[in-house]
Amino acid sequence: MQNTTIQIGDIQLTLEEAADTLGAIRGGKIDAVVVEGAAGHEVFTFRDASHPFRLLIEAMGEGALLTTVEGAICYQNPCFSDLVGIETSVAHTRTLADFVMPNRRAELAALLERARTASSARGTVELIGPGGRPVPVQVSVSRALLVDVDVFCVVVIDLTEPMRQEALYLAARHEIEARDRLFSVAAHELRNPLHALALQAELLQQLIDTSPLEQPLRERATRSVAMLHQQGKHLDALVGKLLDVGTIGAGRLRLIREDLDLADVVRSVLERAEDAIERSGSLVTLDLHPVRGRWDRIRIEQVVDNLVSNALKYGRGAPVHVAVAGRAATARVVVEDRGAGIPEEARERIFRPYERVSGTQHLPGLGIGLFVTAEIVKAHCGQVRVQSVPGGGSRFVVELPLDEVS
Ligand code: ADP
Repeated sequence: MQNTTIQIGDIQLTLEEAADTLGAIRGGKIDAVVVEGAAGHEVFTFRDASHPFRLLIEAMGEGALLTTVEGAICYQNPCFSDLVGIETSVAHTRTLADFVMPNRRAELAALLERARTASSARGTVELIGPGGRPVPVQVSVSRALLVDVDVFCVVVIDLTEPMRQEALYLAARHEIEARDRLFSVAAHELRNPLHALALQAELLQQLIDTSPLEQPLRERATRSVAMLHQQGKHLDALVGKLLDVGTIGAGRLRLIREDLDLADVVRSVLERAEDAIERSGSLVTLDLHPVRGRWDRIRIEQVVDNLVSNALKYGRGAPVHVAVAGRAATARVVVEDRGAGIPEEARERIFRPYERVSGTQHLPGLGIGLFVTAEIVKAHCGQVRVQSVPGGGSRFVVELPLDEVS
């Protein structure tokens, strides 16, 4: 009788154990069981619905941790272990603060405090990386309930590479800004003596006109003064371009819009470029249709002048075609040459400052004109692009909206 009672007690205990085990399995608290069978000990693992998520967290390229709301680590993924250079098992006895550089722990504490009150928080701290090296990271903390227990889900993103890139970018920017500033200052300084030279050339011409010189001498002197004028104008245009880079870099490009016919603007630019056209040996053909819009005359003249000057300069004396037409809500200027063309690799970068195509360096230029062109067109809410067949010439297309957009 007593034996039977003991046996029933054992069976009840075994049943309770089995019920507890089943409950734990259902609750996802058990990953695997070891069963002793004919073939020895066998491990049976369970793949519940959370298995794919676990895989995801383990394979993540960012650190992921589960901590108590005090910051004690319950779980960390392999990426976090790598970031701080420890074995995966080590962290379980530690807090997140143990892996943060001592001088940044107050920031972490404040971050966790914010997450405790606002349920999520984000900030940057430095971890203690392998060999004690500081590793800048972004830490995102969200508060969650895990089987009635308050926990923090923490994602840690390594910022070493993005910060390195940003530092490089900032250094490059500073350098470019310093160069632009230098150009601006130099350009301002150059303008005054240039204007004085132009004035002196005019006076010289008046002297020649009013002096009793013999004809051949008068002609020679007049030619020299004309040359002085032309070189002065060329220098002045270059100085103007440098000043534009400064203006654009400082975000000071302002448009003065007025009612214009684009065909008229192009015509007047070409009239002024008569000498340059003649010198280039290119035949310039036109197909100009009137298109009215509200644009900045001086700036649009500058755009057309840049494109036409380039077509003459890089066009190797071959014909250049300039067209203006309106299409739907857009006005279009096309400048086409039959020069060397522009390789695909350069078709975007030539619109950036100081960029030139290799093989054109023997021709004078600063690599600024197309940058200024693109900025002016952009300020008009338009766009400029180039189509080109290397060896078959280039076709620059400027599109300007007819409706005033800005
Ligand atoms: P610049 O002509 O003063 O060097 P741009 O900014 O106007 O400066 O042009 C940038 C570069 O683009 C030029 O140096 C040249 O290499 C290339 N380029 C511009 N226009 C043409 C063109 N029509 N044909 C061939 N290459 C061109």
